[in-house]
Amino acid sequence: MNRRLDQLNQNFLTLLGGLNYGGRRRSLPALMALALTACAVPGTGDRAASGPSPQTKTDAIAASPTASTSSTVSDLLGQGDQTLVADNNAPIRFGKPIDCKLGEDCFVLLYPDRDPAKPNAIDYTCGQLTYDDHNGTDFAIPTWTPDTAVPVIASAPGTVTARRDGVPDRRILTPEDQASVKDIECGNGVMVDHGNGWSTQYCHLKRDSVRVQPGDRVETGTPLGEVGLSGMTTFPHVHITVRRGSDAIDPFTGPAQSTGCNLTARSPLWSEPIPYRETGIVRSGFAPQAVTEDDSWLGRWTSDELAGDSPALIFWIHSYGLRAGDVEQFTLIAPDGRKLVDHTQPIDGDTKNRVVYVGQGTRFGPLQKGQWRASFRLVRNGQVIAQSDRVGTVR
Ligand SMILES: [Zn+2]
Repeated sequence: MNRRLDQLNQNFLTLLGGLNYGGRRRSLPALMALALTACAVPGTGDRAASGPSPQTKTDAIAASPTASTSSTVSDLLGQGDQTLVADNNAPIRFGKPIDCKLGEDCFVLLYPDRDPAKPNAIDYTCGQLTYDDHNGTDFAIPTWTPDTAVPVIASAPGTVTARRDGVPDRRILTPEDQASVKDIECGNGVMVDHGNGWSTQYCHLKRDSVRVQPGDRVETGTPLGEVGLSGMTTFPHVHITVRRGSDAIDPFTGPAQSTGCNLTARSPLWSEPIPYRETGIVRSGFAPQAVTEDDSWLGRWTSDELAGDSPALIFWIHSYGLRAGDVEQFTLIAPDGRKLVDHTQPIDGDTKNRVVYVGQGTRFGPLQKGQWRASFRLVRNGQVIAQSDRVGTVR
């Protein structure tokens, strides 16, 4: 009986895994590239619907009384060293652009691209958490619904120069979705001028959440709006681009190092350490059916309880930053103590983002009522680098 159950379960596991891998592995890279490439096309946020044009924005910086020694736009853009001298006198620092506990209820998913060659992309650690031409940093939250109210906050004192609102929140998945946000890739956003040529741009805010206007003075931590899913994005986050003049600066390295990774002389611009975590779990949980990435990002399957007549018990894990050679281990133990899943599988290619699951079907009988124990381990070079242990209850 046990053997048969194992066999049944193995079949079920294989079936689910097959669906998951088959669709995901072929579609994800293209999808991620599509959606994330345009997470914030350089400069698009400048074209805020109700804000100034990019040229007006640049003029405003040059005309600012605090704009170092530059007096014209061409001075500002062409004499980077001059601006740098001014920076050294008063080094600017940026706080994180989101009000959350990093590593607990938010995390950095994508970093600026340090490789100027196309289509290559590499983050400042030489890792994969970026994409070609990504010019900012993406602070993500694990899940989002219209009721989610996580503040996007100003990273440094300054003056609001542009804002946009009114763009709907939705994940961009198809070419039609993509077309719908052409030229408004930043979605609902805000730009802040910090003086001395420095500015920040915040993208993908929730519709109707933007609470500042051009001309408003902000301090570090002033709420600008809330995290959303507007513009060209596939996951809930705020994208922040730090600029000096028109150049996007990687805040993890500072302005002196415009390209390359694993630099020995970094001068991060963050006011607090922002640790690099290359791999982690976004969410995990139980569900009565196959789980998609959409389900995870959009707040579905948050309960650890399933109805007794559920068609299946699925233990699912949404992880990020997986590398070829990593090994996933799953176990699922029924209320009577039987181990129904004990499965190990390798990751055969670097993967930014992945939803996978195992489970027990009901073709040969209903789910056992009681507490189910599930665990997931992600193993790299013999070490567990991410894990989730959960107890689900079938009522
Ligand atoms: Zn981004």
